[in-house]
Amino acid sequence: AKVGGGNNFRFYDSEMNTLAFQRLTTENRLRKALELDQVVLYFQPLVDLKTGQIKGMEVLMRWNDPANGLVGPDQFLSVAEETGLIVGLSNRVLQEACRQCRRWHDKGLTGLQLSVNLSAQQLGPYNLVRTVKEILIETGMPPSSLKLEITESELMDDVDRAKRTLHELSAMGVEIAIDDFGTGYSSLSYLKTLPIDTLKVDRSFVRDLATDEDDAAIVGATIGMAHHMGLKVVAEGVETPSQLDFLTGHQCDLGQGYYFSPPLPADAMESLLQSGRLF
Ligand code: C2E
Ligand code: CA
Ligand code: CA
Ligand code: CA
Repeated sequence: AKVGGGNNFRFYDSEMNTLAFQRLTTENRLRKALELDQVVLYFQPLVDLKTGQIKGMEVLMRWNDPANGLVGPDQFLSVAEETGLIVGLSNRVLQEACRQCRRWHDKGLTGLQLSVNLSAQQLGPYNLVRTVKEILIETGMPPSSLKLEITESELMDDVDRAKRTLHELSAMGVEIAIDDFGTGYSSLSYLKTLPIDTLKVDRSFVRDLATDEDDAAIVGATIGMAHHMGLKVVAEGVETPSQLDFLTGHQCDLGQGYYFSPPLPADAMESLLQSGRLF
């Protein structure tokens, strides 16, 4: 560690300024990105672990930034959330995802479910239910073809409001998945009162599944509990055959991860859809 507080302080201070400056430029460029339609959708298959068939896909946002190329959400989501830009970005993603699903449907690629990520702010005062309804009507997408993914911590921001919103969405036929399940420091009681269809086991539990007994116990118990409650389970971050063996052996319903496919742009995803089974 450095001695001499004065120096340290100045160093820290200028680092903070640089960070603040970066955030500001990111914010301005994100605003532009929205105006100029630089939001791109990637799709990653969710694979039925019994049949190897693609049952659906998760929609993952990318920013096609002219200066930096394709940028992943980890680089801009926190700024988008702090500035409220996330709502516009997310609506764009939802609308474009439903339009794409409709195009696939019209080409005979039917029966696919699209999972779209929600952010906490979409569960806030802003009217998510109306937006979802409008987009479903505009695109003619059946509500049951849409699944919305939400993390435990996003739910806990305002539990009562989240509860109302999720019940309205569920009543429309839209499905709800809990994302990153097991990482949220929340009690499990929400599972009894919220209309949840799917648990997505966080990839931190899947990573060492083949070698770590604790992770194996957590994943095995999660699958058992979910099935008893009539929920489906998706394992995230499946990368190896031994992870897949464990998951199929424990009747996990769906898998997602590089073992099957990385996230792909729409045209590559379409080719994959036409090729059938993934393992
Ligand atoms: P997530 O919802 O947990 O999404 C899964 C992330 O895991 C994706 O990262 C995906 O590319 C990555 N992944 C998939 N398979 C594997 C694997 O086998 N191994 C490993 N190590 N990683 C894998 P990505 O696309 O960078 O997205 C990061 C996060 O950004 C997402 O985490 C989600 O929380 C958020 N996000 C992405 N798109 C959207 C969006 O449209 N709206 C909102 N609100 N958030 C989004
Ligand atoms: Ca997700
Ligand atoms: Ca996740
Ligand atoms: Ca995760």
